[in-house]
Amino acid sequence: MSATAAPTSPHVMNTYGRLPIALVRGQGCRVWDVNGKAYLDGLGGIAVNTLGHNHPELVPALQEQLTQLIHTSNYYYVPGQEVLAERLTALSGMTNAFFCCTGLEANEAAIKLARKFGHDKGIERPEIVVYEHAFHGRSLATLSATGNPKIQKGFGPLVEGFIRVPLNDIEALKKATEGNPNVVAVMFETIQGEGGIHPMRWDYLQQVRALCDTNDWLMMIDEIQTGIGRTGKWFAHQWAGIVPDVMSLAKGLGSGVPVGAVVAGPKAANIFQPGNHGTTFGGNPLAMRAGIETLRIMEKDGLLQNAADVGAHLKAALQAAFEGVAGVKEVRGQGLMLGIELDRPAGAVLTRACDAGLLLSVTADSVIRLVPPLVLTVAEADEIVALLAPIVKAF
Ligand code: PLP
Repeated sequence: MSATAAPTSPHVMNTYGRLPIALVRGQGCRVWDVNGKAYLDGLGGIAVNTLGHNHPELVPALQEQLTQLIHTSNYYYVPGQEVLAERLTALSGMTNAFFCCTGLEANEAAIKLARKFGHDKGIERPEIVVYEHAFHGRSLATLSATGNPKIQKGFGPLVEGFIRVPLNDIEALKKATEGNPNVVAVMFETIQGEGGIHPMRWDYLQQVRALCDTNDWLMMIDEIQTGIGRTGKWFAHQWAGIVPDVMSLAKGLGSGVPVGAVVAGPKAANIFQPGNHGTTFGGNPLAMRAGIETLRIMEKDGLLQNAADVGAHLKAALQAAFEGVAGVKEVRGQGLMLGIELDRPAGAVLTRACDAGLLLSVTADSVIRLVPPLVLTVAEADEIVALLAPIVKAF
């Protein structure tokens, strides 16, 4: 396999348009392909590699865990679940957690929670408010909650019971739900990731919180991409000073080991009873150790502050580099979740950046997305700008 010739995988299902490189090693914010070519990792496994690659404290902790116990079953108590749940509830101001493996699994559980919340109140056909351009995953329920017809195409009939509204428009939300007794929840990302790095306004979030309280709806925040320090707070909604009733987490929580969670406040903590929901792998000892160590190391090394500081530096440097550049519409985002919107499809930027030794992604066709590890340094941020600026300017 070479970095120039496309590797072929005749036995792997063709679900991704992959770049023709195969990565085999990583250290910090750098990864290397099979030919020894180095790349600066501006993507962090799509907002997953919180601590960067081969972290000197995470790896030995996982090695130790591997020799002790990898997996048991949710038929038994898993001590690590107690520790991680205690940590996540303390950080979020919520009360209980359910552990799973992926983002869609967390959102699927959140949707089930909302429906059961309704059924327990006698609502037989519960409905959940979701948003235009939202992305919540690719299972049938989360795909139906997702606001992207391209992702839904070919998979109908979709799951019913979702009402879609535009972002940041409280009047539209009131109008869409007016007089509807079946509404049970509002579900959203604090900053839409796959939809193109579109932030919710903090005052809008406060208005939604108030509306949820008045109407006895669950406020369910998908923090799968924005959570675990990415924006400079543990969870992005904390910038708005609100606490949701349900929060979904995954991606950065295990720093590369699949860990997902649904965290619930008092209104939603006791909806599931034994037999209502489950997972074979979720919350296993290896996953819990990854989550516990990720949060411990983040706190010890001040990675929230780093995400805020280096993120602000990177955003300012990108804004300066693209000021007045034809074709660049906006640089936006918060912390280390940044998007550069172009006025045309940006797919080719991906390939050119990869050739230049920079990994990133393109979302919503025209938005270049940077979600690097939270250990990114100022020097590495400057290197991202130095590699990306000439590509975008020549685009
Ligand atoms: N929700 C959000 C906001 C996401 O960004 C993603 C993945 O990109 C998901 C849900 C789905 O997560 P997963 O791919 O782990 O199922």
